[in-house]
Amino acid sequence: MTIKENIEKVKGEIAAAARGCGRDPEEILLVAVSKTRTPEEIDEAIDAGIEDIGENKVQEILDKYDHVKPVRFHMIGHLQTNKVKYIIDKAALIHSVDSLKLALEIQKQAEKHGRTAEVLVQVNAAEEESKFGVTAGDAEGLIKSILESCENIRLRGLMHIAPFAEDPEDVRIYFRQVKELYDRCARTDHPRLEFTWLSMGMSHDFRVAIEEGANLVRVGTAIFGERNYQK
Ligand SMILES: *Cc1c(COP(=O)(O)O)cnc(C)c1O
Repeated sequence: MTIKENIEKVKGEIAAAARGCGRDPEEILLVAVSKTRTPEEIDEAIDAGIEDIGENKVQEILDKYDHVKPVRFHMIGHLQTNKVKYIIDKAALIHSVDSLKLALEIQKQAEKHGRTAEVLVQVNAAEEESKFGVTAGDAEGLIKSILESCENIRLRGLMHIAPFAEDPEDVRIYFRQVKELYDRCARTDHPRLEFTWLSMGMSHDFRVAIEEGANLVRVGTAIFGERNYQK
């Protein structure tokens, strides 16, 4: 299958999942995750209609940014404070804010560039040691601190990476918890809190994530094939 065919297939599955639970497929944004992929492969995805690309490493954004057709880049991986300055003017949305320290650096760099950074708070609902993100219990406190101290940050929603499970039904509970948290936070009345995106769901679990309310899915393998880290 070509990248284009894979994208058609994924879009069909997104639409089916959305319709299956009474949602409008149009409200779900597909971010194609292109880590380890070449600019040529990314352009193939863009030609097939992709407008949003996700990368989990700063270096990969820098390597590809000027070498692909116009597209929005999403920073979806762990972001080190000392690397914020390299992507502040390149990432349309940073999905991985999980500490006030990181938020303060984003604030500093955004102010320097005279812009407002659009960010999501990453929630580690299953409290996995191996994953970044704040616990669901700490998310609201972090959001409050960011609103108090970061004038150049706009909070646009939450991001969640579910634990890996053979059967995605086993992680439905986490998607549901994050959606509940999202709805609660979204009610906060503040000019710099404009919740729009609930980023959850990857190749093997986006159907369940959509059923639980995700409106942004991050899909790599199902579009580009298995990753080859040797490449
Ligand atoms: C790699 C990655 C994805 C995509 O994973 P696939 O299983 O290849 O679809 C989504 N989100 C994050 C944060 C990732 O690092």
